[in-house]
Amino acid sequence: MGSKMVLKVFNTLGRKKEEFIPVNPGEVRIYVCGPTVYDYIHIGNARAFVVADVVRRYLRYKGFKVKYVSNITDIDDKIINRARELGISTQELAETYSNAYLEDIAKLNIERPDVMPRATQHIPEMIEAIERLIEKGYAYVVDGDVYFDISKFKDYGKLSGNRAEALEMGARIEVNPKKKNPADFALWKSRKPGEPGWHSPWGKGRPGWHIECSTMAQKYLGETIDIHMGGKDLIFPHHENEIAQAEALTGKPFVKYWLHNEWLTVEGEKMSKSLGNFVTVRDALKICSPVVLRFFLISAHYRSPLDFNRAALKTAERNLERLVRALERLNSIPEREDRTVEDEKLILKVEAEKRKFEEAMDDDFNTPLAISALFSMARLINSYADENKTIERTAKLRVLKVFVDLLGVLGVKWAADKRETRTDELFKGVLELLIDVRNELRRMKKWEIADHIRDELRKMGIILEDAGKETKWTIKREDA
Ligand SMILES: [Zn+2]
Repeated sequence: MGSKMVLKVFNTLGRKKEEFIPVNPGEVRIYVCGPTVYDYIHIGNARAFVVADVVRRYLRYKGFKVKYVSNITDIDDKIINRARELGISTQELAETYSNAYLEDIAKLNIERPDVMPRATQHIPEMIEAIERLIEKGYAYVVDGDVYFDISKFKDYGKLSGNRAEALEMGARIEVNPKKKNPADFALWKSRKPGEPGWHSPWGKGRPGWHIECSTMAQKYLGETIDIHMGGKDLIFPHHENEIAQAEALTGKPFVKYWLHNEWLTVEGEKMSKSLGNFVTVRDALKICSPVVLRFFLISAHYRSPLDFNRAALKTAERNLERLVRALERLNSIPEREDRTVEDEKLILKVEAEKRKFEEAMDDDFNTPLAISALFSMARLINSYADENKTIERTAKLRVLKVFVDLLGVLGVKWAADKRETRTDELFKGVLELLIDVRNELRRMKKWEIADHIRDELRKMGIILEDAGKETKWTIKREDA
């Protein structure tokens, strides 16, 4: 193992730090609630995914074998409503935004999940789970809908603290005469006119969001999962309901450790559609590079609030540059054959900072403290470079490796990244502008200039394809 120290994590279930001991030694199974693909992901979603990615990378660094599953919710009220607004099918909408999601996480250097189950491809498993819940007396059918009866599950509320009795008295839950208890939730929703639906023993309909996640999590990770992650907005009702469903079915604990990240605010305000301060990852990448956005997102501890604003992004960029400059400086020191006392000292001090980094990460993934160990490393390297004209080759390689490995735990790969992606972004922006101009020309029936643009781009290897109102572009491969 990379680090022998004990890892502690803050478990929302019980609200305290606990030693992390996976169900099966040496192996960690993680489930992360993925996006509902009705729109581009926003920076709050990105925070949850980047945090989970760092957890995954650090566990692997510590020597665990990690299996990471994150779903795509491709059927949901939001998807149905948005598809209706746009006049397209729910599949078409889900396909568009799943692809956009994959592009966005790739830019942020978030590794793809090992399994990325889609809800619509697991309907039979969900129906089976619901049938078993009915058999066991935890669920009831009303007019083609199926509800979970929270009064039957005595542990209801153990994650969020929202106990069934309190919920019944609470006035904030909508009253639905079909439900036995106001807080009962839908496992299956009967199809309304114009909605997509699947055949089931209760008529045509679709699964509820909560049963989607718990069914797919258990299918790919087993009855008891080590870590389940998500933003804290998911604690109630989503994760509370996942527990109720899963544990009612198996009688076993569903998740050993629940990890939730705090809010991301935008200029001091909570992000919301009504305030109009919704920032998508794509919006954010217009004002900073992907690696800076990622570094910003882990600059606070995941359980602390984080505010997105230009000054904070600037700070993140400056800090990251400090680290990278030290790395590049070390790399450029001329090498020699024999090792000096100064080289030995540098190695020892850098190793000590590496242990500080690991201690910080072992303490519930304290990324800001871990990053401060990297700053100390950068300072050590800079003062070495101030005082030494050369460095012994293997000492240099060792220090470089420690630094690069730890940056890798944070998912930061700078050197190749920054400049290239900036050029990429710029290229795409300019090309899309050109396509817009050409489409405007076509609308004005100025075919000659529009065709000229298309032909000139083709000579450069960029192929435009017009399909209806949309124009797609591809780059012709060299050998094509
Ligand atoms: Zn979920």
